[in-house]
Amino acid sequence: MDKPVVVIVESEHGELTLASLECVEEGRDVADRLNVKVQAVLCGSEVEPLAGTLAAHGADQVTVVKHEALAHFSADGWLQALAPVLLQAHPALLLAPDSGSVRAWLPRLAVRWRSPLVGCCMRISIVGDGYPEVIRHTYGGACQERLIWPYATLICAMLTPGVRGINARRDERTAKVTVVRPELDPACFRDRTLRTLPADPRTVSLSEAERIVSGGFGTGGPDGMALVEQLAGQIGAALGGTRVAADRGWLAVERFIGSTGQIVAPKLYMAFGVSGAGQHLSGITASETVIAVNSDRTAPILKRADLGIVGDLHQILPVLLRKLQARAAVNATHPVEPAVSAGSPAADRTLEMTP
Ligand SMILES: Cc1cc2nc3c(=O)[nH]c(=O)nc-3n(C[C@H](O)[C@H](O)[C@H](O)COP(=O)(O)OP(=O)(O)OC[C@H]3O[C@@H](n4cnc5c(N)ncnc54)[C@H](O)[C@@H]3O)c2cc1C
Repeated sequence: MDKPVVVIVESEHGELTLASLECVEEGRDVADRLNVKVQAVLCGSEVEPLAGTLAAHGADQVTVVKHEALAHFSADGWLQALAPVLLQAHPALLLAPDSGSVRAWLPRLAVRWRSPLVGCCMRISIVGDGYPEVIRHTYGGACQERLIWPYATLICAMLTPGVRGINARRDERTAKVTVVRPELDPACFRDRTLRTLPADPRTVSLSEAERIVSGGFGTGGPDGMALVEQLAGQIGAALGGTRVAADRGWLAVERFIGSTGQIVAPKLYMAFGVSGAGQHLSGITASETVIAVNSDRTAPILKRADLGIVGDLHQILPVLLRKLQARAAVNATHPVEPAVSAGSPAADRTLEMTP
């Protein structure tokens, strides 16, 4: 029987993480190349309902590893529960999101199996008729590396969240679901997650953020960037920006976006005073809706934007902030009005703002 591509998937607050779905789709591409199946493996206590989503993104088989002791993450628990299941699966390739929790247990399994473990992967593929190949970023994103292993080597690859993005669901796809109930002794777990706090938009990893507000060189300095940050706080978005803004110290260096910074895939990306250089745009390709404010109508970001506003951010941002504050005050006493959405007539156009 052909060995499957096995994908470890993770859920948070009852939903599959975006990074997990990216892994399933990446695994699907590799499996198609090898002409084998994709087996997604999901650990938890009440996670069976997520199997349909895994099928819709490319899984042929879903193995749900279920136990009440797996309701919250534990590296020891995950390793105890998953090691036998993964061994039995005989993977051709083991693929997982490059997340903090996967990094807590998968390296231990890779050592046991004496398999190469590769983090920061951007693309995983097969060369020829079975040589695993990985493109990964190194040195904090400054370099890219291409690695190829001998024929049919089992590698454990961790895919960087956000680099791939996900395609639309294909609900006509189905998967065979198997539930495995391992015997576990939680008393032997040396680590336990007591509770998971909701992500703080100010500190959430940019690759996981659903909304991002970015500032570039056009913000003019820390004061302009503070306005951008205020907007981010007002709409519950994470703060990002360009490398130029980070180089000047207006933004923490780990929050700049682009080919040498963070790769993001938010539902909403708002850019203020960002020109849209190729290196920056390559970090936001998977964004669903892009709104850009720029004083130069020829700025490349406006071509990428679903809604482009030509105007001075120093005039637009204070007005926007005032309106949002007024709206928040009204919403505190009245029901919320529907917001303008990406599919509404307001999208896909450029607005000219005159002072
Ligand atoms: C090897 C290499 C790797 C790189 N990697 C990255 C990367 O990962 N990420 C990244 O971001 N960059 C990266 N860069 C830098 C990149 O090439 C651009 O220089 C950078 O993205 C530009 O940043 P910016 O848009 O903030 O500034 P600028 O290009 O200077 O653009 C500022 C924009 O603000 C607008 N503006 C000015 N004043 C206002 C105002 N009052 N209101 C509204 N708009 C205004 C201007 O019209 C302009 O379009 C890299 C460069 C190199 C060489």
